[in-house]
Parts: sequence; C-alpha cells; structure tokens
Amino acid sequence: MIAHRLAVALVAGLLTGTLSAAPARIQSIRVAEYDSKTRVVLELDQARSHKLEVLDGQPRVVVDLYSASLAASLPERGTGIVRRIRHGRHPGDMLRVVFDLHASATATSFGIAAGKDGRGHRIVVDIFPGGVESEAAAEERAQPAVRDVLVAIDAGHGGKDPGAIGRGGSREKTVVLAIARRLARQIDKEPGMSSMLTRDGDYYIQLRRRYALAQERNADLFVSVHADAVRSLRVRGSSVYVLSEKGSSDEARRLARRENASDRVGGIEMDGLPPTIADMIIDLSQNASIGASLEVGDDVLQHLHGVGRVRKSKVQTAPFAVLKAHDVPSILVETAYISNPQEERLLNSSSYQEHLAQAMLAGIRAYFYRNPPRDTLIAQRVAAGELPEQQYVARRGDTLSGIAQRFRIPVAVLIRANNLPNDRLRVGQVLKIPAG
Ligand SMILES: [Zn+2]
Repeated sequence: MIAHRLAVALVAGLLTGTLSAAPARIQSIRVAEYDSKTRVVLELDQARSHKLEVLDGQPRVVVDLYSASLAASLPERGTGIVRRIRHGRHPGDMLRVVFDLHASATATSFGIAAGKDGRGHRIVVDIFPGGVESEAAAEERAQPAVRDVLVAIDAGHGGKDPGAIGRGGSREKTVVLAIARRLARQIDKEPGMSSMLTRDGDYYIQLRRRYALAQERNADLFVSVHADAVRSLRVRGSSVYVLSEKGSSDEARRLARRENASDRVGGIEMDGLPPTIADMIIDLSQNASIGASLEVGDDVLQHLHGVGRVRKSKVQTAPFAVLKAHDVPSILVETAYISNPQEERLLNSSSYQEHLAQAMLAGIRAYFYRNPPRDTLIAQRVAAGELPEQQYVARRGDTLSGIAQRFRIPVAVLIRANNLPNDRLRVGQVLKIPAG
C-alpha cells in the first residue's frame, strides 16, 4: 500500500530569498519528544527552502531540500513517533530526509532564520500522532515566539595587536579572551539570555567590524572587555566606560587613544553619505543609546565592587571607537590593571576571571530585568513577576544604606530579605538582594 494521503507544504517566507550556489549543509538533526508531538530540528549552515510530505501506508514524513547535503550523522535510535531516519540523494542536488514513523501522523513545518540565539538556520518539523492535530498541540503552536536577550561580548585586541602587556609578560588579548569566554558561557546558561563573541580566538578584527558584528545580529548590548595598563605599578582596580565624543577626562582620552590605536578610526564613513551628514546621523543615534549605556554600565560597575577594587566609582566617558555601535547600548569594561603585578596574577587566575564574569553578568541581568526588550523571555518573566534574586558580598567600608542605594532598594527591604538583627555588616557577608 502506498500513499493514501499526501499532504504537501511548500514553505517559503523566511528561508527563501537569494539562495547561494554552494549546497547547504545539514549540520545536525535533533529529535525530541513532547507530550503532544515529536519535534525534529534540522540545523543548516545556509537558508534553504524545503518541501514537507506526509505519507500513510508505511507512515513516514519526507523532507526534501534543494541543493543540500548531509554533514551530520543520523541518530541511530528512534525518538517518540520517529522509528528511524534515513536519507537519499536525488537528481538536481536534492536531498531527501525520510522519517519512518511508528504510526500514521500529521505534520507541520516552519523555518527559523539564523540569528539572535546564536544558532544557524533551522527547519523545524512537528509530527503529531494520529490523523488530526490535537487542540492542545494547535494551541501550543499558536504561542507567540519569545526571544532571548542577545549580548555581544567583545574581547579586546587580538592577533597582531596584543593590547597591554604586564610586567610578568601576560598579554591583554589573552586574558580578556578568557574572561569574555567565561562571560559568554555564563550568559548562555542564564534563562532568557544568549551571547555572541566578536572574536573567539587569537586573531585581529578591526574595531568597526566588532560592533558591525553585533549590529548584524541585532544584539541588545555590546560589552567590550579589556585590561588596562599605566606606567605606575600601583594603580589598580576596574573601571567602566561609555562612549562620549567630548567632555572626557585626560586619562580617558589617553586610554581611548591607546585602545583605538590598533585601528585608525578617525571618523566613521558611511557608504555613500557625505562625512558630515554621516557624523550627524551617528551623533543622533548615539545620544539615544548613551542613557542606556550609562545605566547598564552603572549596574556592571556596582557588581564589580563585589569582586575586587573599583578604580572609579562612577561610569567614565571616553571616545572609544569600539563603542560606536550607534543604536546598541555599549560599554567598555577595563577589568583590572595588567600593569599592577598583583592584578596581573589575578587576571590569569581562572577563579578571578570567573568572578569578574559573574559580576558583569549580574549587572547585565539587573539592567535587562529593569529594561526588558520587547518580545523577550525576560519581558515575559517581568510581566509575570518572576524576578531573579541577586547576591552581594559585603566588603570593607560597606554600609547597609550604601548597598541599598546601589541596588536601588529601600534599606528596610534589604534588612527584611536577609533577616538582619541590626544594621551591622561583616566583610564577606553574603546578602540577598531582592529584585528592585
Ligand atoms: Zn584594551
């Protein structure tokens, strides 16, 4: 018995457009079982349109892709209603992937373009046991998509540009990449947040390319990670900078000159626009995001207080080329001074790197829970009153009122949340910081 019923869906939309000449590669095939359905996800390195067919008789779902090849190994065992997966090549570079089923079913499919969450192009096939899609399954499919907040993490320098070099020989480009990777991993573990790295290796990227990468992926935040150096051995501590063209201190200008030096970015040229008009456009969009940059910078700075020394207790402004991300709130974190022998050692320690990353994440999290971008899981959680709790480790000189002010909560709330008998604090005491 062959094909009693034939359902064909041609899926256009997201995955059409200009198809490139090289065959797309299917990089993975995942099958997962849910209450009402079995979901298959094909991940591709390029967008491809596909055709979905559901056949009865020997029940199976067939996905045809034009100009595609299989670069993934097929799961050996079945999952859910999928008994096994096989594939075949057909004339005209067509790849056919066949899902043999335990029972007859219906199926729907859709494409997701690469982006936001760091994954590639995907084709999602939902297979529903039985002839008719259940009401619950239909409802589940109708849920509007929520996205993750995307944080672009930029490890400063790289390749031919080592950045600052410590007395002990540590290179800024190496330690900041380690910190950036830790931050990326922590962000990816955080519900509703995902990360991207502008560089993930020891190579050189132009400054303008760094923020262009973040813009291409519509990042919600750009964080550039550095480790400063000065002639004096004694200077130490972290600082957070946001972009400003004017009104910056001499020290900030000196730092910006050095951080910008690897890549002579005088003004940004915008293709086809006279420079003066381009500058004006950039100024306008920078003003719009500078408030957000200052706010998230302050959140990160407040949390860095819990890790080590903070050099400047206010967010600094400097004309950093790498922060010219126009519409993306952007901060530059000088995590520590690689020129200070003690901090050079710390910068190389994995636990200190991890603590720095934790503090940056905590600041970023606090900012996004106060300012959740639309259509994100965080916006949904905020609307549902699900706010994350944070922790703060008291350090010398801290007072309850100071901490309360820093996290923008009333002192009484802080005392209640921690069942404190009085307002005395000891160094190292861990405080719960309720969501503000
Ligand atoms: Zn640097």
